[in-house]
Amino acid sequence: MCIFCKIVNKEIPNNTVHESEHFLAFHDLYPKAPIHILIIPKIHVDCFQNASAETMAGLTLFSQEVARKVGVDKTGYRLITNNGEDGGQEVNHLHFHMLGGAKLAWDHTHEDAHKSL
Ligand code: 5GP
Ligand code: ZN
Repeated sequence: MCIFCKIVNKEIPNNTVHESEHFLAFHDLYPKAPIHILIIPKIHVDCFQNASAETMAGLTLFSQEVARKVGVDKTGYRLITNNGEDGGQEVNHLHFHMLGGAKLAWDHTHEDAHKSL
């Protein structure tokens, strides 16, 4: 069973922000912004590429609820999903990162861009 399925099953503790029948939002263990929340479907879907329209529709409304709950609906936020190896996905259970609480930097250069030529 994957690590996020274990969180859904309460085998691993989490700091829950919001929960519905089908979705869960909890604080990221290693936050990269003042607000860094992970939003997941409770069913195991490995990545965005394999997500159904139904899952994404529910996840959209749920994410908007999460934003309202923590107040970033007013101040702004970024939603990111890392998909697959080049996308930097480390946990193979669909999740969106909700980042906010500060003005976010924008740096999506590829890793080779940081190596000296
Ligand atoms: P990815 O790199 O797959 O897009 O993001 C995985 C995220 O899950 C990372 O931001 C990482 O900090 C977070 N993470 C990994 N393990 C745990 C955990 O056990 N609990 C929580 N709350 N977050 C985790
Ligand atoms: Zn899973």
